[in-house]
Amino acid sequence: MNGDQIAEVDGGRPVVFRGATLVTMDDAGVIDGGDVLVIGDTIAEVGRGLAVPDDAVEVDASGGILMPGMVDTHRHMWQTALRGYGADWTLTQYFVFYYLNWGKIFRPEDVHAGNVLSAIEAVDAGVTTTLDWSHGLRTVEHGDAALDALRSSPGRFVLAYGNIFAGPWEWTATPEFRAFVERFGASDDMLGLQLAFDVTGDPEFPERAAFEAARDLGLRVTTHAGVWGATNDQSIALMWDNGFMTPDVTYVHAATLSEDSYQRIAASGGTASVSTESEQSAGQGYPPTWELRRHGIPVSLSMDTSVWWSADLFSAMRATLSADRSREHLEAHVRGETVVHNRLRAEDVVRWATIGGATALGLDAVTGSLTPGKKADLVLIKNEESPAMYPLLHPYGSVVYQAGRADVHTVLVNGRVAKHDHRLTGVDLAAAKAAVGRTVDYARTTMGEEAWREGMTPELPPAERIPNPYTYTDYDGGEDRHRAARED
Ligand SMILES: [Zn+2]
Repeated sequence: MNGDQIAEVDGGRPVVFRGATLVTMDDAGVIDGGDVLVIGDTIAEVGRGLAVPDDAVEVDASGGILMPGMVDTHRHMWQTALRGYGADWTLTQYFVFYYLNWGKIFRPEDVHAGNVLSAIEAVDAGVTTTLDWSHGLRTVEHGDAALDALRSSPGRFVLAYGNIFAGPWEWTATPEFRAFVERFGASDDMLGLQLAFDVTGDPEFPERAAFEAARDLGLRVTTHAGVWGATNDQSIALMWDNGFMTPDVTYVHAATLSEDSYQRIAASGGTASVSTESEQSAGQGYPPTWELRRHGIPVSLSMDTSVWWSADLFSAMRATLSADRSREHLEAHVRGETVVHNRLRAEDVVRWATIGGATALGLDAVTGSLTPGKKADLVLIKNEESPAMYPLLHPYGSVVYQAGRADVHTVLVNGRVAKHDHRLTGVDLAAAKAAVGRTVDYARTTMGEEAWREGMTPELPPAERIPNPYTYTDYDGGEDRHRAARED
């Protein structure tokens, strides 16, 4: 597609992708040498050798994999403004930084800047739908800024409205928030609204009012559940006892929970959002997919926050498959056994990253698979310059273990071209970067140099080395050779 054709496709001209390995993620499975015809915002046909309208723009997708756009069910997009700043944090350091010390300095324009860059980053990586777990909305002006950023960015979004600086029973009840919901209007395919808050386990269950607000307003709830040291089985029990565990709830992380809590989630039809890289690094608990699938709890994937990680779901799929298999091996070895079948397949994590995410957001009729009638959210993975993209033998394996965001050739969101020939289209990346640059300057100035530096490089107490009973002199040549080698 050239520039004119991209504009015409955006204007509704049909486009056909020819000759790809189609990873449909529906009953059609994998189709080699397949075509996908998009008319307007919709997938019109999927198959081989499609007859298409005369004016269809043709994209040569041969040698590539065409898959549904990926879905991230939990990302704190506003935190993208400090990308990578917390690379060495634990969860405690994250809480201290954002919840206690510095989260409150973020202005509406800072939330806006983070969201815009995060949205662009997502489509660049082939993520076409993102739930923005937006818990920095200290005022409704912050909420408007978050919303404005999502409305003006490529991608399908759900704004999960949250505010860590007040109790959810407080902010959900304010007239300003209710007016915001009124202004937002009805959720649609492109932009939805949910409530985002956590249940601390306080036996008084103050979160009741927030759940009631969600029910009254007809909004889904997303909640960090099963987070070591923060939310646990007590939170689940309170939700259960008070009748707030429903299919409209997504449990983020869902690690460090008991068997009983998993049974309740499964029985109530809830879904999970697993952020494997986050759980592995920050310490919410072992990535729980190995438990979730034993209970039949639907899984979706997420990246959590770019203050550590990124919006790249290839990374999530890879980490999740590895963590799940790693746990299976570990459990077996503890029993003195050997795993002879990898129960979790590459196909499973691709499913979680696509239709699994769509299901968790209630958008499975809209996106998440290459199915005629669904909205055209497509990702073409094709990179003729990459040795890792050839040969394509196991398409799911190539998606999970070989591909990366640099291999994302073309992205369509709702039939519009967001990326083509490895280049973003229709976004002003320079402006997005400049806005984030202003936020970084502001945060750094407000915090002061010392706090800025300490925040980024948390203090590390000295580590104690385990005493080693062996002396490495006991081999042929002994002490002399050892010394000679050192003096070389
Ligand atoms: Zn989170």
